[in-house]
Parts: sequence; structure tokens; C-alpha cells
Amino acid sequence: MVNVGIFGATGMTVVPVATDENGNIDVADLEAKAVQHADDLAALMVTYPSTHGVFEESIEQVCQIIHDHGGQVYLDGANMNAQVGLSRPGDYGADVCHLNLHKTFCIPHGGGGPGVGPICAAAHLVPHLPDLQPDVEADSGMVSAAPWGSTSILPISYAYIAMMGPDGLLEASRLSILNANYMAARLDPHFPVLYRGANGRVAHECIIDVRDYKDVADAEDIAKRLIDYGFHAPTMSWPVAGTLMIEPTESESLAEIDRFCDALISIREEIRAIQNGDADAEDNVLKNAPHTAMAVTSDEWSHPYSRQQAAYPAPWSVATKFWPTVGRVDNAFGDRNLQCACPPMSAYA
Ligand SMILES: *Cc1c(COP(=O)(O)O)cnc(C)c1O
Repeated sequence: MVNVGIFGATGMTVVPVATDENGNIDVADLEAKAVQHADDLAALMVTYPSTHGVFEESIEQVCQIIHDHGGQVYLDGANMNAQVGLSRPGDYGADVCHLNLHKTFCIPHGGGGPGVGPICAAAHLVPHLPDLQPDVEADSGMVSAAPWGSTSILPISYAYIAMMGPDGLLEASRLSILNANYMAARLDPHFPVLYRGANGRVAHECIIDVRDYKDVADAEDIAKRLIDYGFHAPTMSWPVAGTLMIEPTESESLAEIDRFCDALISIREEIRAIQNGDADAEDNVLKNAPHTAMAVTSDEWSHPYSRQQAAYPAPWSVATKFWPTVGRVDNAFGDRNLQCACPPMSAYA
């Protein structure tokens, strides 16, 4: 959401705050930096529950420290899925908070857009908000020509909120937390859950650690192999490089969550087969994933594993097979070598 460059453009300087070994904000370091920069402290940018999937118990204290030293607290509201009906950012100290309607409030945002995020502010900031009728006397006029954002997609969030009602919204938050904890409990014996709160629970998402055997198969191999099992991979290498971050949300059924866990556990066994030497170190189901229909129907099949193992790795694959259209691509190469697919200008002459 926030590009650090924006702060630079406004003449502000970003001061990173340390985290402790559990991934939480290092409160002593935060306090030291708040004291050090008290003369020109503008704001803290904080995410709650945090990006490592934990409700940080210090959140009130963190906000208080910033307020005590003259700053404001901007809460990244991207994780409201774990809070709606349960906690209110204003109560624990946030002054400003955006709501990712395209996450928590159900506007689909696959493929990069659209995203809409109303920005909520505490009452004392109202005089500083952009005004619909620009007024030279006011602190600030409009900063954008689209005061209501992408208005045409707001009815989706409106309908979602109206149909769910207060009880339904609360239930959704509880379910998203329950689903993440169920998944963390099922996966932990196979893939250690990296961070937890004080009572051993996660928030609405969790990071699983897959780095121990990265020379054999890494997060990308696991992500690609999940496609063979019929799943789109979860967030990869963020916020911790080489790990997977899973957010099941409230909307998956228990059966689907179990299938996803079964797929990951089965992939762990496939990795173990490589570690044991039962599968080839290079020519294996993980390194070659995902397998296209073209690949498994080819006359040229020469892999040491079967076509069935490649394309139908789980009992449910038969009923729900999803076929990827392309095999393994080199993601990093693609990101660094932009190909323009537009016809040349001469095509329009
Ligand atoms: C998704 C996410 C963002 C980015 O939000 P967009 O508005 O979708 O770009 C920022 N912070 C956190 C914690 C997120 O989960």
C-alpha cells in the first residue's frame, strides 16, 4: 500500500523499527526511536494483526508511545478480516486507517485490480481531510479528482455488508481466525509455523517455514507443485523470504481446507523422497511442476516418475483436475525482461 518513496517526496524520512526474535515490534527500540525523533516525529505506520500473522499484544502500548512523542498512528487496515466486529482500530490507538474493500469487504481483486480503500480518520483529523469543495482557507483542499474513489464497484461492498449483517460480519472474522488456526495446527508437524502469539495461536494467516530443505525443493517448487494438485499457491516469500504465507479466509469449507492441507502434506512426502534418494534430485515432480496436459500426453515421456504421479497426485485430482496451460516459467527472468506483446505501431498505419 505505502510506497516508501511517497514519504521521501513529502520531505519525510523513514526510520525502520527493529523486531524481536518472535517477529514482533521491538517496543524498547520503538520507544528509543520515538524519543530520538520526538522533535519531528510525524507518524508510525503499523499493521495489526501484524504481517507475520500475529495479534501483537503491545499494540496499545505502541500507539501510546507514538502519541506521547507527538506522532500520529497510521494503521494499515489490510488485515481487518481478523478484526471486523471484534476490535476497532480507534480504540487501541490508530488515528488513521484505510479499509481494503477489495480484501475484507469482498470486492474481487484478482489480477491486480480494482482496489478501493476508504481512509478513516479520527475526529481530530477532520479539519485536515481533503474537502469536496476546495476552500483556500482550509488546511488542505482536494488532493485527488476522484473524491469517492472507484464509485462503481462500491455497491459490491455495500451489498456484502448489508447481506452479512452485524452478526454475519462478526462470524466471518471468527471463522477466518479459526480457519487459519486449524490450518496452522494441521500443517505444523510437517511445516513449522514460523511465528505465533503468546498463547500459541496465529491471527487470520500464518507463515509456514519451508527453508530447511531449500537446496532440495524451495518455496517456488512447492508453489508450482500445488498447481498439479489443483491449488493456486499462497503468498510466496513475503514477508519472510523463502516461506509461504497462508490466509485461508472465512470462505473456504472444511473439506477444501483439508484438501489443501493434504496436498501440502503430500508434497512434504515428495520432498522427503528426494531427500531419501528415492526420487531423482533434478528430474522429479517438484522441479518439473506444474505438468501440462501436453507434457503428460507426450510420446516423449522420459521422467523417472509416472504420468499419473505428475498429473493426478491426489485421490481428488480425478474429480477436480485443473490443467495449467503452461509449464514451469522462470519468474525472476520474466520480471526482469519485459516483453511487449502489443502489435508494432505500423500495424495501425
Ligand atoms: C494486501 C496488503 C497490502 C496491500 O494492499 P493493496 O491495497 O491491495 O495494495 C498492504 N499491507 C498488507 C498487510 C496487506 O495484506
